[in-house]
Amino acid sequence: MSTVQVYSVFYSLQGESTYMGLPCVFVRLTGCTIGCSYCDTKGVAAAVGETMSIADVIEKVKSFHCGLVEVTGGEPLQQESSLELLTALCDEGFVTLLETSGQEPVADVDPRVEIIMDIKTPGSGVAAILSDENIETLREKHAQVKFVITSRDDFEFAMVMEKKYQLTSMFPVHISPVEELDRRQVAGWVLTSKIPFRLQLQLHKIIWPNALGER
Ligand code: SF4
Repeated sequence: MSTVQVYSVFYSLQGESTYMGLPCVFVRLTGCTIGCSYCDTKGVAAAVGETMSIADVIEKVKSFHCGLVEVTGGEPLQQESSLELLTALCDEGFVTLLETSGQEPVADVDPRVEIIMDIKTPGSGVAAILSDENIETLREKHAQVKFVITSRDDFEFAMVMEKKYQLTSMFPVHISPVEELDRRQVAGWVLTSKIPFRLQLQLHKIIWPNALGER
């Protein structure tokens, strides 16, 4: 039986996608070598975590009696077995979300999974990690896209990516400002851009600041 390295399995509100506000079980896997400047889960990225069989993870998820599950991290796809976990969750009938950075190929992600791809902006310091190939593959998937915005430059990067890939014609595209940015200013940028971006405030951070969404 395959295993995954798990930081935590918890029940909370989904905070940053079109599922925002819905009760959701989170499976937070450990490990990430990307190193975004604003990473709020450095402890998760560096942790080894608990080794759990996929069957045990499924049982834990079932114990919350909630139909929506998100596999997150860290960068979940840096664990090879995460693909098996995602398929197992779909097989059990869960609406299954995957939060990923775009660094790892998504081609082998189960097509029943809804991918939430966090396209890294220049402010993350790692904007080069997304390959053209991976974003082209995303077109064949059930997906949403998120840009974490740390500055006007990051917003302009999102506009360039929109122009290059016509993202909003294929996916919900979320603009997620970091807490330090003036949200009204970002709202103004969205309005004047005339692009159907969705301004998204990280709900879980508003309700449970400094708690990684865990209550
Ligand atoms: S991809 Fe996520 S976990 Fe990894 S460094 Fe960036 S913010 Fe942190």
